[in-house]
Amino acid sequence: MEYLSELSTQKILVTGGNRGIGRDIAISFAKHQANVVISGRDEATLISTTEMLQKYNRKCTYIKADMQQVESIRNMVDKAYTYLNGLDVVVNNAGINIPKPALEVTEEDWDQIIDTNLKGTFFCAQQAGKYMIAKNKGKIINIVSQMAFVGFRNRSAYCSSKGGAVQLTKALAVEWAPYNIKVNAVAPTFIKTELTNKMFADQSFYDEVLTRIPLGKLAEPSDVTGAVLFLASDMANFITGDTIRVDGGWTAI
Ligand code: NDP
Repeated sequence: MEYLSELSTQKILVTGGNRGIGRDIAISFAKHQANVVISGRDEATLISTTEMLQKYNRKCTYIKADMQQVESIRNMVDKAYTYLNGLDVVVNNAGINIPKPALEVTEEDWDQIIDTNLKGTFFCAQQAGKYMIAKNKGKIINIVSQMAFVGFRNRSAYCSSKGGAVQLTKALAVEWAPYNIKVNAVAPTFIKTELTNKMFADQSFYDEVLTRIPLGKLAEPSDVTGAVLFLASDMANFITGDTIRVDGGWTAI
């Protein structure tokens, strides 16, 4: 794809790049010759995914980091900046869900979800923003969810975290526009990954989900990657503060 050739010079950090959607995003960037750093907690998948990335571009590595710990996040961004000798794009992809009826959500559940999906996203953007402001250039892409826009049972904390991340995206886009930093989000519908495997073990839940997606099927990680690559590319240089919904029409109903 020649029109994405500019990605070959990009220095990119993908949080949660070791598996699921983040891995697909990281591999696609590496296929376009971008230099990619992935992060996560699980060393085995960090290593195996890094080996995949290095098949396309030797200048890819991983950093072990916990998105629930602000110091760990700052250290991750600093290390990624040093390794890459710059930071053009940060994809805030790491995220969790603990589906539970609202009455059963514990303080620990709430904190884990909000800390990872919202607080972690903010402090990662903040640390990257320090470097990007100094360079007067950068892109931050937050992976949110269709659950930022609709309600759904057993997802009070998750919907709150992703709705907050959409608002965070707009607030940072406005504040950092004078520094030529674009902040956008991508909001997928359901995709089969480790995050959703347990949910889809319930066939009736799977069937219900399909009836809510007008396109009649789940999204694939590559559908999310397409939107991320677009936002990272020069084609999207005048887009900021927006969220692209990759939801097969779920939120259009
Ligand atoms: P997975 O469960 O497959 O992967 C989650 C990723 O996040 C892993 O790489 C994991 O790495 C990382 N992660 C989670 N918690 C932490 C933490 N505390 N510190 C560091 N890394 C962490 O999920 P998906 O790939 O499905 O989801 C990716 C993103 O897409 C999430 O933000 C999710 O909310 C969003 N999304 C997913 C949808 C889906 O249907 N799958 C739908 C809509 C949005 P490790 O465990 O090694 O730390």
